[in-house]
Amino acid sequence: MIVTRFAPSPTGKLHLGHAYSALLAHSLAREAGGRFLLRFEDIDHTRVRPDYYQGILEDLSWLGLTWDAEVWKQSDRLDHYQDALDQLKKLDVVYPCYCTRREIEEELSQLTHAPHGPEGALYPGTCRGRSTPLDDREPAWRLDSARAAQLTGPLSFYQNPSSQDDSSKKEKISVKAELLGDIILARKDIGTSYHLAVVVDDAAQKITHITRGADLLPSTHLHRTLQSLLNFPQATYHHHQLICNDQGQRLAKRHDSLALSTLRERGKSPRDLREILTHMIKK
Ligand code: GLU
Ligand code: ZN
Repeated sequence: MIVTRFAPSPTGKLHLGHAYSALLAHSLAREAGGRFLLRFEDIDHTRVRPDYYQGILEDLSWLGLTWDAEVWKQSDRLDHYQDALDQLKKLDVVYPCYCTRREIEEELSQLTHAPHGPEGALYPGTCRGRSTPLDDREPAWRLDSARAAQLTGPLSFYQNPSSQDDSSKKEKISVKAELLGDIILARKDIGTSYHLAVVVDDAAQKITHITRGADLLPSTHLHRTLQSLLNFPQATYHHHQLICNDQGQRLAKRHDSLALSTLRERGKSPRDLREILTHMIKK
């Protein structure tokens, strides 16, 4: 059975880009008689605001979406992320790091060949090789991406070019385990990260098809690696294009004018919204 999900962060209002992502995941499940689930990505207590939870549910209901189980909150599931981190520690694929942002920048500026990823410089590996924390301070835990790649061996994932589950069109992508470098899997202040939490929860909710923005394609390489290390099943991915505003900028939380609640207050119907989205996609 096809199981999809939408995983918004209650750190702002939903905008057209979220609506697009949610509608794709929802229709993929509904057309196949599958299940559609919701999960709040609310681990970052420094950015979450309580009033956004209800607002997001209202927006989704207004759009006509229904979900098939109680909504999960990642903030309720920190123990599970800790368990996963413990497993990674046992595999010796994570290491503690105390580097500050400034120390990392300094180190990078001294390197002639600083490691680069899709979004700029990567962590230079200063603390790699350390296995236990230095003292009582809580460290961040980073993936030893080279060791992870060695442990898992070659991996791949399947991507559907459209949001339909069309196995004849599935594309097989080889995983580059080191694409994001030795990324942080557990922040020192919250004990986990988006990457670790999303992988644990997609497995726990038995998500078969992950529909999300193309900006997350690089992350999928890391997620597939983590799935393999943690013995989780793999999913099929659809990375959809990002919705942009008239100036060609990717929508962000600050673009309030395209928030669903603003459009609704201006009298737009869910149907109008679908039309706006189709139009934006064609451009
Ligand atoms: N919270 C992420 C977003 O709103 C979704 C991440 C994901 O689908 O894996 O873009
Ligand atoms: Zn470090």
